[in-house]
Amino acid sequence: MKCLQGGDFSKGELQRFGNIELIPSAGVLNYGQGLFDGLKAYRKQDGNILLFRPEENALRLRMGAERMCMPSPTVEQFVEAVKVTVQANERWIPPPCKGSLYIRPLLMGSGAVLSVTPAPEYTFLIYVSPVGNYFKEGLAPINLVIETELHRATPGGTGGVKTIGNYAAVLKAQTAAKAKGYSDVLYLDSVHKRYLEEVSSCNIFLVKDNVLSTPAITGTILPGITRKSIIDVARSQGFQVEERQITVDELFDADEVFCTGTAVVISPVGSVTYLGKRVSYGNEGIGVVAQQLYSSLTRLQMGLTKDTMDWVVELN
Ligand code: PMP
Repeated sequence: MKCLQGGDFSKGELQRFGNIELIPSAGVLNYGQGLFDGLKAYRKQDGNILLFRPEENALRLRMGAERMCMPSPTVEQFVEAVKVTVQANERWIPPPCKGSLYIRPLLMGSGAVLSVTPAPEYTFLIYVSPVGNYFKEGLAPINLVIETELHRATPGGTGGVKTIGNYAAVLKAQTAAKAKGYSDVLYLDSVHKRYLEEVSSCNIFLVKDNVLSTPAITGTILPGITRKSIIDVARSQGFQVEERQITVDELFDADEVFCTGTAVVISPVGSVTYLGKRVSYGNEGIGVVAQQLYSSLTRLQMGLTKDTMDWVVELN
């Protein structure tokens, strides 16, 4: 659906997945005025469909839109558009416990611009795809490398919102890491170059003596919805969780390290390499704490346990 700066996104329509038309001078193509988000729909044992906290994605898109000078759908418009799109694509949702339907909302400046200025017109669209595991290792541990030269975000930049340019910024380091056999890159803060930030597409947690810690949200990392959910689930199970600055040295002393994100849910980290020094965790498996939290969260997302948090939206 399209809307003008200051307009509203109430009138949408379903279209077949395919090419869309964009004018060469579109704001998104020239000045990167684009945002996206990501969430999943699961099929329940009784056939009904579950969405996980879609209002959180709506709020994050709205926060990003404000940063990128774009109008955005209201929370209600966003959630309704997600529901309609998922229902229209029901046949693509995998059977219970066999994967999920990944939902990709996209908001972009589709109007023409020549000088650097917000586009006069915007397009909000949603496409979907069935998915399995994000990392080919699945729930097996991934191997991260710490990037010491390139950064994905700087203070005052756009690292805290899900704008398309943030992902272009990680491609170089990520491609180099993958070529060397690593699963992904762990970024450090760009000022001190010693505090952990996040991985290319997920947040990071350390476990030490049963206390969880994760980098605080300070504007340079994405406020992950899985991160926020894991913090709440962990606290509800009696774990202490700290959101703070974490130095790179703490990785060498951690009992467990894991990543969180919509795509990966939880991915155990098997090793981290920093300036050629490698630290390994566990013995080839998922850590006890990560396993416990993974089970709790995925059971909730798939409708296998009672939704005491009121996080799940059921469609039928
Ligand atoms: N950080 C980045 C850079 C991401 O792209 C993602 C994926 N959206 C995350 C963290 C995790 O966020 P969420 O749990 O909301 O998927």
